[in-house]
Amino acid sequence: MKYGRTYNFSAGPATMPEPVLEEIRDEMMNYRGSGMCVMEMSHRSKVFQQIIDEAEADLRELMGIPDNYKVLFVQGGATLQFAMIPMNLMKNGKAVYIETGAWSKKAIAEAKKYGEVIVAASSKDQNYSYIPDCSDLDIPEDTDYVYICENETIHGVTWPKLPNTKGHILVSDQSSMFLSKPCNVSDYGLIYGGVQKNVGPAGLAIVIIREDLIREDLDPKTPIYCRYDTHANAGSMYNTPNCWAIYVCGKVFKYLKSLGGLEAMARINEDKAKVFYDFLDQSKMFTGTVRKQDRSLMNIPFVTESKELDAEVVAYTKAHGFENLKGHKSVGGLRASIYNAMPKEGVEALVECLKKFETERG
Ligand SMILES: *Cc1c(COP(=O)(O)O)cnc(C)c1O
Repeated sequence: MKYGRTYNFSAGPATMPEPVLEEIRDEMMNYRGSGMCVMEMSHRSKVFQQIIDEAEADLRELMGIPDNYKVLFVQGGATLQFAMIPMNLMKNGKAVYIETGAWSKKAIAEAKKYGEVIVAASSKDQNYSYIPDCSDLDIPEDTDYVYICENETIHGVTWPKLPNTKGHILVSDQSSMFLSKPCNVSDYGLIYGGVQKNVGPAGLAIVIIREDLIREDLDPKTPIYCRYDTHANAGSMYNTPNCWAIYVCGKVFKYLKSLGGLEAMARINEDKAKVFYDFLDQSKMFTGTVRKQDRSLMNIPFVTESKELDAEVVAYTKAHGFENLKGHKSVGGLRASIYNAMPKEGVEALVECLKKFETERG
């Protein structure tokens, strides 16, 4: 590994593509002759306007975002969206949520403050280890939207197929799978993600919203920052945006384009995840915790027979240069997050290390 870097399996903030970090380094003291670093620059400057415009254009190209969707760069991470979504989209005060893990659970708790939340399906009965059948949900006619977390970062489940919303608007938290594979944007009313999982630095959420869902007739007490129309009408610059994160994300978008776009990313990610899942499926010591057809390509939770052994694995891998394999504190066990920027060699090296541990201890 160059620069003495380690293979970092963190769930977020997470590993970044090295070519992007190198470009940022090269532009640090003087961004393209502007005489300053991007973090020193006015967000109202022409130079920054070009940075944000290009970032949006490249994202639109990567995802094939139709013209009737707005792209918003909002601060407050993905968590603020848990509140902004019901604040802005609950017209009848009613929404359907699907509970598939820690992040949809948090979104449900927040939405309940703003209206009636119907949990139409849940996988809580089996510790969020699968995606429930959502082909024929009971959805009231006046439901404002159907909400899913499309990749549960902590529990490691992903939707193999989107739910049947019966004509209602689909809202999706794509934080930990954003740009990991092609996405048919017009299947959704709103897609959002905190970028620190699969794209860039923390503190920025990207919201892709169908224009007709941006309302102006909101509760007048809605904080101005929490209104989608505020951001849409101001080109994401109502106040000072997270300029640095937007700059870095823009670089990642260009990098993904250079690799062949999202189809190429899907192939790379499937190939990479297979290395790890194949290992898990033949191992006698390690077991994946998720039902096979719902396994995430990005976050892979797994366990040994005991907490003590799990802890030993974390210490062993760390000693061999692999960071952040401890599972989330709420679920324990182990977890390898293998986002876009994790090279296949990193996964192969980790598998070799785990095999060695298994042989030594077996
Ligand atoms: C990390 C994460 C969040 C929260 O993101 P913040 O930017 O920390 O608010 C929400 N949803 C999912 C799926 C996540 O992985």
